[in-house]
Amino acid sequence: MIFPSTIAGSLPKPSWLAEPNKLWPQWRQQGDGLAAAKLDATLLAIKWQEDSDIDIVSDGEMSRQHFVHGFLEFVDGIDFAHKVQMGIRADRYKAMVPVVRGELKLKGRVHQTEARFARAHTKHKLKITLPGPMTISDTIADSYYDDKVKMAMAFAGLLNEEARALEKDGVDVIQFDEPAFNVFLGEVAGWGVEALHRAIDGLNCTTAVHICYGYGIKANIDWKNTLGSEWRQYEEIFPALAKSRINQVSVECINSHVPLKLLSLLDGKDVLIGVIDVATDRIETPQRVAQIIGEVMKFVPKQKIVACTNCGMAPMRRDIADAKLMALGQGVALARKKYG
Ligand code: ZN
Repeated sequence: MIFPSTIAGSLPKPSWLAEPNKLWPQWRQQGDGLAAAKLDATLLAIKWQEDSDIDIVSDGEMSRQHFVHGFLEFVDGIDFAHKVQMGIRADRYKAMVPVVRGELKLKGRVHQTEARFARAHTKHKLKITLPGPMTISDTIADSYYDDKVKMAMAFAGLLNEEARALEKDGVDVIQFDEPAFNVFLGEVAGWGVEALHRAIDGLNCTTAVHICYGYGIKANIDWKNTLGSEWRQYEEIFPALAKSRINQVSVECINSHVPLKLLSLLDGKDVLIGVIDVATDRIETPQRVAQIIGEVMKFVPKQKIVACTNCGMAPMRRDIADAKLMALGQGVALARKKYG
């Protein structure tokens, strides 16, 4: 089947699980109630994607508060009690971040509960996302390793431990979210890809990396306004990704200033093309989705195209995200009719 559809990873959380429309929401349940609510929401996320004809479904990231810290909570050696302020993504915005104070170790499994639960409740292919090692090391302060790369490699080792276990849980696609690749362009070929390779070492399932220009939050929109009319940042990192052992690369396409011809630099990779914009509440039409797929076909062989969202949908309004998922499924159906 051509043009399989999937999502970048996250979906809006139901309001009985967490505060809606927030990137860092507070949970609205506690203890056992919270654990049960997370799984209820996971079931809903799967049903919601299936009903929109999404082929490769995710758990919607219902069990984590934030895409990076959802992983860090399960790591020993991190001090969450004394957070410090740090400029992240090359100082694009400030965040209160925890501090690494000792050797990093996993406390146990990170996403086992939701991954096995999701696996048991869908026959579709299942994707689980993890934060990438470069992005993690840009979202945490360090007073132990004294070396960003060494710390990132330590995180990559932990990610690999969890990824291997997720594969055993029956997960088909493991995706690493690396928005920091788009910030530290010069470091991607140097150690960014090496850290990813450490994270995927020994995996037989499909592996993916998601890079992007960030959610539609104000700090990102302001930054995007400084980038000019053509965003050519990816030109610097795509050749390194093309040479890497990662199977799939997820990038935004719709309403993006990234020239689509840059996608030809990802020769050999499956490309998860963003055909749904998460930075606007305007709903895409199926025609528009199919049109983007048609444009990308000039630069990526059609067998290598996967239709996806530009980025996560966690902070969106739920009715909007729902309509956008439907547009994704319908747009792919239309594209198959037109180009299949
Ligand atoms: Zn993203």
